[in-house]
Amino acid sequence: MLTAGPKGTNDILPGQVEKWQYIEQTIRDICREYGYSEIRTPVFEHTELFLRGVGDTTDVVEKEMYTFEDKGRRSISLRPEGTASAVRAYVEHKLYAQPQPTKVFYTGSMFRYANVQAGRYREFHQFGVEVLGSNDPAVDAEVIAMAMDFYGRLGLTNLELHINSVGCPTCRKSHREELQSFLRPRLDKLCKMCQSRFERNPLRVLDCKENSCQEAGRGAPTTTTGLCPDCADHFALVKTYLDTIGVRYIVNERLVRGLDYYTNTAFEIMAPDIGAQSSIGGGGRYNGLVEQVGGPVTPGIGYALGLERVLAAMEQQGAAFPAGLTLDVFIAALGEAAKNSAFAILNDLRKAGLVAEMDYMGRSLKSQMKYAGKFNTRFTVIIGDDELNRGMAVLRDMVVGQQEEVALGVLRDKIQSKKQEEKK
Ligand code: AMP
Repeated sequence: MLTAGPKGTNDILPGQVEKWQYIEQTIRDICREYGYSEIRTPVFEHTELFLRGVGDTTDVVEKEMYTFEDKGRRSISLRPEGTASAVRAYVEHKLYAQPQPTKVFYTGSMFRYANVQAGRYREFHQFGVEVLGSNDPAVDAEVIAMAMDFYGRLGLTNLELHINSVGCPTCRKSHREELQSFLRPRLDKLCKMCQSRFERNPLRVLDCKENSCQEAGRGAPTTTTGLCPDCADHFALVKTYLDTIGVRYIVNERLVRGLDYYTNTAFEIMAPDIGAQSSIGGGGRYNGLVEQVGGPVTPGIGYALGLERVLAAMEQQGAAFPAGLTLDVFIAALGEAAKNSAFAILNDLRKAGLVAEMDYMGRSLKSQMKYAGKFNTRFTVIIGDDELNRGMAVLRDMVVGQQEEVALGVLRDKIQSKKQEEKK
């Protein structure tokens, strides 16, 4: 069907796009203040990167990746998330040789062949950050606090921040064995997917969304109880730093990231207002990931926030958005000669940095004024043949409701000085 986009994709139209631009501006502002530089990586990568960098036992990679062979017979995948690419770029360009930590952010489309529903799409947008090169628990707290600050700046309230620690591969080894012994008698209750990955990755059962797995995992040993002293200290410090700056959290021992390169801190933010797909962001530490994709042993942590869901939560909560397109000047012209003159003035005003527009639909004067009204126009310039013959135009102040005749030659200066006055 050519009149509809592919399932799970969205067009962002004028009227809505201003909201996106506002969110994107907030992202750029907050990233500058927290010291994050933007990184732009390709939308597609070698499939292998995601197999290693996201994990071949994850749902995202196992079931949802857009993978194809290109004309050079390479296996290529559209990125399902941003961390693997950022880490690949970090290694490829040896960013670790620069003063550390490396702090980057990204925004862009991600692609997952997901079951489409409200809040779950096949092309969606994420804002994410990565901090590479430091294992300081203060960095974990900074990253978490920054995500919460971002939501707060957008006016979101009533959010739940869940945090947990999944430990390191060493302390996880004994937990894994305990978990397997706990789950083994319940194996037939697990979903097919969890059964098949039970040996490779039993931790996944704890965060599987299937009811049967949630039921079977009830009472299972959690990662937090078996943390080694270093990991326990790390987690305690993350919480202390969060307490210091007043970030409120819930420790959720079922929150896991099930792969070996995820270590220590895991977190997720929920907006209960937006329905079933309530996760509006999540992240965690991944001290084994850089090595996993072929780089030197390097600690790292990051998050990814889903922008469709952030926007949905904002709309649901009635958050404020800045006004849409507003015009400084609308030029209403009557007659061909006046139109030509209006076109020159339009050009002049725009070059002076004013937001200006004129009619291109041959409207009557009355409907030109009505059209101008749609854009919260500040001033209207009216030029008819009569005014034109005298080298004049009518300048109407749409807020005050007064008008005066102004010589065409000084129109621009007049509007600018009125605008200046207003600012004072
Ligand atoms: P993840 O990379 O799976 O940890 O997801 C991070 C965030 O991206 C989630 O909290 C969601 O807000 C968002 N997200 C993930 N998958 C989708 C999707 N299919 N459609 C829309 N948003 C998504």
